[in-house]
Amino acid sequence: MTHLIDGKQISKEIKDELKLEVSRLKSEGKQVCLAVVQVGANPASSVYVNNKKKACAYIGIESESYELEESTSEEELLKLIDTLNSNESVNGILVQLPLPKHIDEDKVIRAISPEKDVDGFHPVSVGRLWIGEKGFLSCTPAGIIQLLKRSDITLDGKECVVVGRSNIVGKPMAALLLRENATVTIAHSHTKNLKEITKRADILIAAVGKARFIDEDYVKDGAVVIDVGMHRDENGKLCGDVAFERVSKKASAITPVPGGVGPMTIAMLMNNCVETARQ
Ligand code: NAP
Repeated sequence: MTHLIDGKQISKEIKDELKLEVSRLKSEGKQVCLAVVQVGANPASSVYVNNKKKACAYIGIESESYELEESTSEEELLKLIDTLNSNESVNGILVQLPLPKHIDEDKVIRAISPEKDVDGFHPVSVGRLWIGEKGFLSCTPAGIIQLLKRSDITLDGKECVVVGRSNIVGKPMAALLLRENATVTIAHSHTKNLKEITKRADILIAAVGKARFIDEDYVKDGAVVIDVGMHRDENGKLCGDVAFERVSKKASAITPVPGGVGPMTIAMLMNNCVETARQ
């Protein structure tokens, strides 16, 4: 019987734990405040930003919202980040991506103080992750580690294959799996004989960005399959990078889309915000 890894339930558990912790921190006089910056009114970004603000309210984290015009210059945005960096009542800074084309995202990511980098995208956070130092972890991969651990899936010594090598998912995912003593292979669009490689995986992480790309031919019997993808199919239905119906017949455990990895990303963002006050 295939186990359905319930990201909705696990993310709720984490948010409830954080809620208790924030209330304890408040009783010690410590506040947690996240500054959320959005440039322009990209509808998908607005949904993400609202969900983040809702999660903050649920947990008891204060959120300050900065909704800037699409025409905001790079200089103005960098100035705001500078002000937030030096504002002691702001613990975390989140700039919602993507930014309008006239703004250099890398420059903006680097401008956020590494001590307030709750997205974990700053090169200092990335470096800390790879050398095993404490720091902010990229939220989606950190959420996947929690999904696996809280489902009692052992990582130590397991053969893990990550399909995708982006800076926000594939690479940090591989680093975190390595940290858990898994044996890790990263595959990408230049990888030869992909099916042979993915079929070695005890744990297969699909972050390909292509709807239902991973079907049963890519999966070993009894593998754990984690689907990072998020797409709308031709009928407007949400789906992932994995052909869920077909793969779930072969996998021992699998995440659904929606309700798998997605809700974990916000839960881990909240965890990073609380981390700023724990320190
Ligand atoms: P991305 O930047 O587009 O990266 C996709 C990766 O897949 C690249 O490394 C690419 O290789 C690789 N790839 C593409 N085609 C391939 C193929 N035929 N065979 C093997 N590898 C292939 O995407 P991303 O930002 O990592 O996101 C991946 C998916 O996760 C997307 O669907 C995205 O919407 C979703 N996502 C979900 C969440 C969440 O919270 N649930 C968060 C982030 C992302 P190259 O490097 O060689 O091009």
